[in-house]
Amino acid sequence: MAESLIRIRDLSKSYQRGGQRIDVLVDIQLDVLRGEFVALMGPSGSGKSTLLNLIAGIDQPSSGRIEIAGVDIATLGEGALADWRASHVGFIFQFYNLMPVLTAFENVELPLLLTGLSRKQRHAHVHAALEMVHLSDRLDHRPNELSGGQQQRVAIARALVTDPTLIVADEPTGDLDRHTGEEILKLLQDLQRTLGKTIVMVTHDPKAAACAGRLIHLEKGVLVPEEAMASAAREH
Ligand code: ADP
Ligand code: MG
Repeated sequence: MAESLIRIRDLSKSYQRGGQRIDVLVDIQLDVLRGEFVALMGPSGSGKSTLLNLIAGIDQPSSGRIEIAGVDIATLGEGALADWRASHVGFIFQFYNLMPVLTAFENVELPLLLTGLSRKQRHAHVHAALEMVHLSDRLDHRPNELSGGQQQRVAIARALVTDPTLIVADEPTGDLDRHTGEEILKLLQDLQRTLGKTIVMVTHDPKAAACAGRLIHLEKGVLVPEEAMASAAREH
């Protein structure tokens, strides 16, 4: 039987604004299997990025549990959470978030500087990651010398280079044309199929979502049960 990599229980997140409490995520229950590729959809403001950031350990919940590979990351302190993140999660963002003054090679090497690897080991990992995204011929290019699609491929290599179990992507094709977006989605599928990575991807695009093995839907901070989605689809 496949094992859950992510087990989320009774997860809520709210923000205090002036005297008002904003409930962004309400009582979320979610399991993601190891090696699964899940697409997370929902209207703007429904809490998709908030949920993704909680899963990635970028943010901390107001209540509930987020177990990843058996560790409840909601109980980790800032420092322990940062260490956990560095070795377990790769992030891919809509606008790539590359360092403009660094080359493609240096951008990909960056997360490895936090590890104990030697320079030689680091370089071997960077070359392998850039080869995986077909950018071995652009090592010395800076982000502004690369197209949007190439920058996103550098970002994927950076997400991959530490060999994380989990990859999270927040609208990774949101800033790309359709053809380039499809290339990026194919790469994400490769990461799942050939490297066995677990991927959680936020997207607005039903075509992008179709590349994933499972679709989950948020509405105003609440996860829509899959049966409800299926019957809604039948009614249309
Ligand atoms: P999505 O990614 O689905 O568009 P978000 O997760 O970014 O939605 O945001 C969900 C809701 O949470 C929005 O109403 C947003 O205004 C609110 N929100 C997000 N971050 C904060 C914050 N730091 N402080 C207050 N409200 C926030
Ligand atoms: Mg968002």
